[in-house]
Amino acid sequence: MRASMCVLTLLLTANALRTPSLRMSVADPQRRRLFQGAAALITFRAYEAPAASKTTRILQETFAKPQTDSKSYRLVELASGVRCLLVQDPRAEKCAAALDVHVGHMSDPIDRPGLAHFCEHMLFLGNDKYPGEDEFEQYISRVGGSSNAFTDTEDTCYFFELPDPAKVGSALERWGPFFSAPRFAQDATRREVEAIDSEHSKNLKSDGFRLFQLTKSRFPSTHPFSKFGTGTRKTLRPPNGDGDPPVDKLREFYGTNYVGSNMACVVCSTQSLDVLQKLTENALVDVRSTTERRPPSTLYFDEEPLPKDSDAYVLASLQSQRELSVQWVLPYDRSDPDSAFADRIQKRYFRDDLFLSHILGHEGPDSILADLRRRGLATGLGAGSGEDTDQFRTFDVSVQLTQKGLKEWRSVLATIRGAALGLQTAEWPSNCFEETARMARLGFQWGETPDVANLATALAGKLQVVGWGASEDLRDLLALDRTPRDASTDERRRAVSELLREMNTNVPLVTVVAPQDELQVAAKGAKKVEPIYKTPYFAEKLSEKVTSSQIKFPPVNPYIPDTDPKPKYAKKAKPTLKDFGPPTKLLDDGFGKLWFKEDRIFGVPRAAVLVLLRTEATGSRSAADAIHARIWTRLAADALRDADYQREFDSYDASLAGLEWTLGAGPRGVQLSFGGYDAKLPELAEAVVSAVKGFDAVQYALKNDNLERVLDGTRRDIRAARAAPASSRCIEELGVLTERPKFPLIEAENALKKTNVESLRKWLTENANVFGSVAATDVLVEGNCDETYARRIEKSVRSGLSGGSTIPAEPSVLQVPLSTKVPIRYAAKPSASDEVNYAAIYSYQTGSGSDVRAATLVLSSVLEAPFYEALRTKRQLGYVVQAASRYREGVSSMVFLAQSAKDDDVCRGPSDLVRYIDEFLDTEAPQLLDKLDAAQLADIVDGLARRLDELPKALGGAVAPHWDEIVSRRYDWDRRAREAAALRKLSVGDVRDLFYLSLARTGASRRPILVVADRGKPSSSMRTDAIPDAAAWASKLESWGSA
Ligand SMILES: [Zn+2]
Repeated sequence: MRASMCVLTLLLTANALRTPSLRMSVADPQRRRLFQGAAALITFRAYEAPAASKTTRILQETFAKPQTDSKSYRLVELASGVRCLLVQDPRAEKCAAALDVHVGHMSDPIDRPGLAHFCEHMLFLGNDKYPGEDEFEQYISRVGGSSNAFTDTEDTCYFFELPDPAKVGSALERWGPFFSAPRFAQDATRREVEAIDSEHSKNLKSDGFRLFQLTKSRFPSTHPFSKFGTGTRKTLRPPNGDGDPPVDKLREFYGTNYVGSNMACVVCSTQSLDVLQKLTENALVDVRSTTERRPPSTLYFDEEPLPKDSDAYVLASLQSQRELSVQWVLPYDRSDPDSAFADRIQKRYFRDDLFLSHILGHEGPDSILADLRRRGLATGLGAGSGEDTDQFRTFDVSVQLTQKGLKEWRSVLATIRGAALGLQTAEWPSNCFEETARMARLGFQWGETPDVANLATALAGKLQVVGWGASEDLRDLLALDRTPRDASTDERRRAVSELLREMNTNVPLVTVVAPQDELQVAAKGAKKVEPIYKTPYFAEKLSEKVTSSQIKFPPVNPYIPDTDPKPKYAKKAKPTLKDFGPPTKLLDDGFGKLWFKEDRIFGVPRAAVLVLLRTEATGSRSAADAIHARIWTRLAADALRDADYQREFDSYDASLAGLEWTLGAGPRGVQLSFGGYDAKLPELAEAVVSAVKGFDAVQYALKNDNLERVLDGTRRDIRAARAAPASSRCIEELGVLTERPKFPLIEAENALKKTNVESLRKWLTENANVFGSVAATDVLVEGNCDETYARRIEKSVRSGLSGGSTIPAEPSVLQVPLSTKVPIRYAAKPSASDEVNYAAIYSYQTGSGSDVRAATLVLSSVLEAPFYEALRTKRQLGYVVQAASRYREGVSSMVFLAQSAKDDDVCRGPSDLVRYIDEFLDTEAPQLLDKLDAAQLADIVDGLARRLDELPKALGGAVAPHWDEIVSRRYDWDRRAREAAALRKLSVGDVRDLFYLSLARTGASRRPILVVADRGKPSSSMRTDAIPDAAAWASKLESWGSA
């Protein structure tokens, strides 16, 4: 149950920008803005950093690390008490830093909910050294980086990354004052409360946030976990949202909590550890120091972290999930804060939860899930650690229910609780511990190194947990949460049985969510409403009586390698662009192509296999085809993972041994992918390919309720997409207007209504059982393997295929007509939705080719930050505001997106949003372009080109671009290099030309299109240029390239 992703990431996938992975945090990462370089018309005040303190202490220089990790680490404590992990990676092409302050919304003052989160926002709005609002972000965007922050229950984490490691010092210098001298200016404070308010209104319709708050509400109101963390205008400016902005409260909160001993910082770059240490000392020299660490949790340590009731909560899900969640609250040692702290470290390293989740979450033939599936109650089950705070953690089990399972959720719950009780006294076979520990250790040893930015954020969080522990805790920092500490099987047995004893002592928190129209069958009990999100729910007393059930443990897993895997070639110290060249074509006989590349770069014992079977059957022609293909792949994936259906291979055992496979279908055909440790990968690939080919979908669909279960899942997916926020619906509709093939959700929904066993049979017959219609195959094998290995897999892929109809046409982008008038499309509002947000997205296609792509990227960098500042920071229109470049199937465009819930003189609806976007493009954008000079352009180009030149850091990253070229049949292996070259020769005039030709009102190559999603009926003035039928409009357009 993660907080939902920001919609903007949808827009930006083509730009290869980083989406920070975030822990569940109450404030969905605010400021999630993904920069790729932007204008910064500011002058920097140089300031002399004070001399570094001499009292920095080195705490640890040796760390347990994976074989593949060539980085150096040093943990120091600065004079102010900040613990800082310095990471030198000579191979890094980027630098990054993260600073985690150990204070979150659990420390909000009772009368100011949201203050910690608000404080996080305010740090971006100026400090004594750099007083300008958004000044840090303007710098970061100018040099092509990105920065962000999030507020969690007990932590607030700030982070940035830059494409040029040489700039780490100047970025740190501008970032450091966040942590010592924020301004909290009165007018900025007043305005930014509005950003918080729109952030909350955006979250109102998110199940992640609603459910999180509902869980919090089960704690006594005296326990800080019960607090509401996002904040609103009302909570921050009481009593009615018009009181004074909380400047004094901010200063007080900041003064108490933003002290050195609460801060854990990570800095990663190419410089030596000595240099990094000096830069960090200088940047953080003014952080207020305190003599001893006193985490805020010590203040509420005496509050028992126990829920106030033992009711099950049953409620409607807005995103169509149907799920039972069981959550056990497990306090750490309650003697005193120090013991709790030690207990937390010990348990995080020991991973008792890992072994328990292995058994409870198992999917083999004798597992709990298999039992629930046989009874027709569940489709999936997950188990593992949930919340983790200084004072307590939770262990969570979630079950994806069928409709029958929803009706009988009490019986599903009895099974889960009975299993937990039964396990407590069961004799655990030793292979459960040994296999799990071994695979975790291999995963750590051969793990691929994350991107520096993700690394910095993840390590800052870990450092905050164990960085004040004993020396051995510091040494194992990198292994935390990745591999359990060495221990004997008996020790593990004891720890797990202790965990189960604790779980079975308390009644768990139970929550059932289901689509609104199904709620009736599941709910009884008292009707209540959670006050913050106004979530209605039913509370039902849970039975205290649990009947223990017998658990069958999984047998020995045959896929676990007998010996430790080894790569044929060691990791290459300094790979160059040449090493990442295209794969070799081993075979091409007109029907099948085989591409192969041996890994000589990463030095990991892994391989990747990608297969595309080109057929028109799976969605290039109609929504009905696409839906049938989707149902067919879901049935196949389901059957192949169902031990009761086939026993030739065990997918789940394979996945536990690090071998994964996927099956999908799209407009190009059927795609299969395999990845993992190379030794047993060909066997798995052969077994899966042959099973998919032999799969009898009709027979499987007729069995039990298999078809209904799959239809139901698909129905709910489509329903969730249709109920998405206004901005997402705008993006979806833009796709319908400008991409081919792309079918409106409503068509998919209608096609789904007509799908049944008969239509499936007909579709399979018409398409020669899918495989008979395959017109060509592509296979790519890369990794720790040889040619024989690749040929063997290719042979099994094409066996039995004879060459079917025609190869489907490539998906393409449609050319919006040249026009001075803007065609407008109203995205349909989902029925019965009470969505308060409305949105508008403007798109301007700029064309195809490297030169256009380069100029569009730069233009987006110039406009991005000022657009955000104009519409969000200054006018506070809403939380979602973005200007970005977009790249699809070789075609570039610039898009401007805004979503708002405002209903006042500033903004009343989409027409106002459109007016503000127009105003920005008519006045501010030309001014920015006038001011663009060669020096600023050079900065932007440098940042962008570095991103394009960046070398993949993991096997997957190297394989993906090769596969893209193969499936699109472009074989354009040098695209990125060419774009980087185009960027480097770009002039200021080229960027201005692009704007005046393609975006400005009078532009001769202007191809604008506008999509709005209204909260009500569109105003009449906007109806003039409306596109009444999106699909009909799109059908008249030519594709780019074919025009
Ligand atoms: Zn926020």
